[in-house]
Amino acid sequence: MPREAAAPRHTGPSMASFTLHGIPVSRGISIGRAHLLTPAALDVKHYLVPEEQVEAEVKRLQHAIAEVHRGLQALWTELPKDAPTELGAFIDVHALILSDPMISEAPLDIIRTRHYNAEWALVTQIDELSSQFDEIEDEYLRERKHDIQQVAERVLKVLMGTALEIPPPLAGEDNAVPQMVVVAHDISPADMLAFRDRDGATRSFIGFVTDVGGQNSHTAIVARSLDIPAVVGMSQASRLIEQDDWVIIDGDAGVVICNPSQLVLEQYRARQASLSKARKRLLKLKKTPAVTRDGTPVTLLANIELPDDCPAALESGAMGVGLFRSEFLFMGRGAHALRIPGEDEQFEQYRKAVVAMKGRPVTIRTLDVGADKPLDPTEHTALNPALGLRAIRYCLAEPQLFLTQLRAILRASAFGKVRILIPMLAHAFEIDQTLGMIEQAKAQLRDEGIKYDPSVQVGAMIEIPAAALALPMFVKRMNFLSIGTNDLIQYTLAIDRVDYEVAHLYNPLHPAVLMLIAQTIATGQKAGLDVAVCGEMAGDIKLTRLLLGMGLREFSMHPAQLLSVKQEILNSDLSAITTRTRRILRSIEPDEIASAVEQLQTL
Ligand code: PEP
Ligand code: MG
Repeated sequence: MPREAAAPRHTGPSMASFTLHGIPVSRGISIGRAHLLTPAALDVKHYLVPEEQVEAEVKRLQHAIAEVHRGLQALWTELPKDAPTELGAFIDVHALILSDPMISEAPLDIIRTRHYNAEWALVTQIDELSSQFDEIEDEYLRERKHDIQQVAERVLKVLMGTALEIPPPLAGEDNAVPQMVVVAHDISPADMLAFRDRDGATRSFIGFVTDVGGQNSHTAIVARSLDIPAVVGMSQASRLIEQDDWVIIDGDAGVVICNPSQLVLEQYRARQASLSKARKRLLKLKKTPAVTRDGTPVTLLANIELPDDCPAALESGAMGVGLFRSEFLFMGRGAHALRIPGEDEQFEQYRKAVVAMKGRPVTIRTLDVGADKPLDPTEHTALNPALGLRAIRYCLAEPQLFLTQLRAILRASAFGKVRILIPMLAHAFEIDQTLGMIEQAKAQLRDEGIKYDPSVQVGAMIEIPAAALALPMFVKRMNFLSIGTNDLIQYTLAIDRVDYEVAHLYNPLHPAVLMLIAQTIATGQKAGLDVAVCGEMAGDIKLTRLLLGMGLREFSMHPAQLLSVKQEILNSDLSAITTRTRRILRSIEPDEIASAVEQLQTL
């Protein structure tokens, strides 16, 4: 979506303009100031504080520092007489560090000059100090870096406990601060979540640029769901772009222009305006049923990460939720048992989504952690995380955690139409164990007199080639199927979807991928099962007709993509498309397939 930002004052002769190319992952154009994120800075909330709240934010940080001072004082007075002397010395060092102007004052300046929130200002300063410490030769002094980080963590804990509220929407133009384009080496999906707005509050972030990442990494997926232009795999962006540079992101072409000339800027502003008009025209289709020109109805569903996405899903005219990636409720909290949401907390979140969707079905996918969505990013990663203990494998290895989630989902099913979707299944015994655990959860709830929908449907994600090839094994046991094309492509082509060095090999139109998708749709439907596609292919208008031609009648995608896909469906003539698609599926030449798919769009 085109985003507005205050106009660049000038791009003077000293600011050389340059262009970088990467992988486009989220469409649209953004024009804003670059905000560089270092790895440590990624773990906290980031937002710009409006001018009139800057002093309140400064006070918030001052209070947190004072609170930590008081805590250290209390520790000191409560020290037992026989405590080792190092303990007292350690408290002294921390108190000294806390009083140093580099910690107690410099971050306040960052809040005042850059308008960063307190947490972000503090980690920005700590990062700066840490890199200075790395250059110190004296080992003892260099090691003090860890003390500084520990002190900062104490202050962050107080800050996070006191004020995690999202800032109010930016007021009018007068006190608006320029909107930000985030530039980072990498951003994890959990960190990406920290950038979300809530309840429609105006967002300060209007785009993302990262050095690494692939088209369908979960970071890219979250950028798309935020409907913010993003380009990844830019290799050197975080080194070449400087703090506060003016940046244009062209999320369609995968281009980032740094310090653009006036002429380029005007061209992009004109494109922003026409995109905005096209978007407004699409909104008129919200209530139009998704039916092909020859009268075949198609179900369009939304992919969501959190219940707060439901209003956007309804706004797009979605007929339900086809994929609720429940792991986003678990991420960014650490794997410590106490931080994992308990049954009641999960139930409230699932119920919130079900109620928000007002009777439309909500498909809740069970926890899909692992690979690029670790529960605890600080834990050691597996040798080959995409092939490791991920999704259902993790859940079956942690039965208590899984049972808790199943109970919470089942409880939510008493409030509307819920479907349970299981990710990354490959083996019959995994299906059987999962179904057994669902029965166990139901039996427990029954015994406890807690309501749930006894006929809740259970479906499988088809996202491992083995599952697509052995589909009858799934058809026999499951109520519905949903094709996860993101992983199906990853595992069929042996391309890590996060690895930008092999991103050019990630091809949805590879004949092997097309065969597996077409076969799954045909076999599933023949057995009378609903078959959906909930991977990113479902929201790509260049592929809508191909999927229709394969017989797909259920698409699940980000709400921001839904109306464009609907428009494509409204203009599609199934009989012409189906014949051409059959021909495409017989082809084994990639170039032929690519041009035939392009031609489908002209029919
Ligand atoms: C998929 O793999 O296509 C999918 C929808 O799931 P995720 O992207 O969350 O792995
Ligand atoms: Mg998947």
